[in-house]
Amino acid sequence: MRAQPQASHFVAGAWAEDRAGAAFESVHSATGEVIARLHEATPAILDRALDAARAAQPAWAALAPVERGRILRRAADLMRARNRELSVLETLDTGKPLQETLVADAASGADALEYFAGYAPTVTGQTIPLGGDMAYTLREPLGVCAGIGAWNYPIQIAAWKAAPALAFGNAVVFKPSEVTPLSALALAEILAEAGLPAGLFNVVQGGGAVGSALVGDARVNKVSLTGSVPTGRKVYAQAAEGIKAATMELGGKSPLIIFDDADLENAVGAAMLGNFYSSGQICSNGTRVFVQRGLRDAFLGRLAERAATITLGAPLDEATQMGPLVSAAQAERVLGYITQGRAEGARLVCGGARVGETGAFVAPTVFADVTDEMVIAREEIFGPVMAVLDFDTEEEVIARANATEYGLSAGVFTRDLARAHRVVARLEAGTCWINAYNLTPVEMPFGGVKASGVGRENGHAALEHYTRIKSVYLGLGDVDAPY
Ligand code: NAD
Repeated sequence: MRAQPQASHFVAGAWAEDRAGAAFESVHSATGEVIARLHEATPAILDRALDAARAAQPAWAALAPVERGRILRRAADLMRARNRELSVLETLDTGKPLQETLVADAASGADALEYFAGYAPTVTGQTIPLGGDMAYTLREPLGVCAGIGAWNYPIQIAAWKAAPALAFGNAVVFKPSEVTPLSALALAEILAEAGLPAGLFNVVQGGGAVGSALVGDARVNKVSLTGSVPTGRKVYAQAAEGIKAATMELGGKSPLIIFDDADLENAVGAAMLGNFYSSGQICSNGTRVFVQRGLRDAFLGRLAERAATITLGAPLDEATQMGPLVSAAQAERVLGYITQGRAEGARLVCGGARVGETGAFVAPTVFADVTDEMVIAREEIFGPVMAVLDFDTEEEVIARANATEYGLSAGVFTRDLARAHRVVARLEAGTCWINAYNLTPVEMPFGGVKASGVGRENGHAALEHYTRIKSVYLGLGDVDAPY
């Protein structure tokens, strides 16, 4: 299995390599095979990418929005036409099953390109009457945006940042996670083929040091990170040092609240999707599943039955429903949390162990009798580990759901819609689902509150984070000077 790109970086519209950069490998975590060898970006590569972005951005911003949109729309079509190829690449790089990547990754990136392609030409400013004089506002791009990605949805993250940034007239320098470096390069190729002028979407490889060099560079006007809370604290602080705009899409420990009048099958299905999809490596997962006591036993019984039918295996086999974790290191981390959950006295309902001799496979795992103080109920595990907690009253569960530093998402299952809206109104979360979970269509803004982040991606809200307002005062009379 090989997925070697032509070169490590994509800069100024072409592949770029600098062998002086530290070598690193991309590994298929189902087998441990090396699928690509790359080099981290050197200061020379970063310099070229940032200069190219700065040079290309003004002419791009000066194009009619409909022309920018046309190119992005073409890129969306190319992504869809190549969905299978891109999905195989993503499956090799992340270990996620092809069954998922075929529908969730490049497809959602294409949606973002299409959405913002159509949105760009609709953006207007305001006219502001001032009783004689008047003012108007212009929406301007920010300039050069640095995007930094996590490893769980590599091409989706790259596209979710590139699409609004480019649509509104910015240039992008994107650094994918060093764990999954490949698909952002494929996106760069597609954008170039769609007609995006050179220098507007650059991909540079590397770890935290390369990311930090980008964030600190004076040529960068805006920083958008998808990553963990500890990284977010560092990147946000560094962006603040340069007084740069920042979007932080960070981690979570989200509550999924299931009242005892909920539809059992739907609630179980949502809890499974919200904990086992992508082997649990999703920021918005509902990893604290609060089940009202009346439904608890039926819920756990049905959950164990359905979890036992999950097909774990080779990710390229389309029958496989669950693949390995992204890396051996991540599997070890997750197994460590499972050991801790057992030691803290949580009751293992299913799973709880590594699967197979090779590969980073961990069985879908459910703990019951989890209490709020346990580490598995407090920390983001980022693996297929569900914690089920009991509750009695609405008031109690709202307080417990909010008792966390995180605030990315939350879900409520009930047939009582008045209660659903009442509860959602009090949940401290950027995105809430009622009788659904983890659906993130591009039309809907997405982002966190509290430590889970600042800013929003997707939807109309993204405009605020990739443009700034210029106010223009128009004097229509004589200047009234007192001297
Ligand atoms: P991570 O924080 O380890 O790394 C994220 C990215 O930041 C990587 O590209 C990394 O190289 C870079 N980085 C690390 N240190 C840096 C620094 N000092 N300066 C600049 N860049 C730096 O996260 P991860 O392990 O790749 O991804 C998992 C995390 O991402 C989880 O916490 C998950 O919840 C979060 N996530 C959030 C969202 C969201 O939209 N809210 C989506 C996906 C993942």
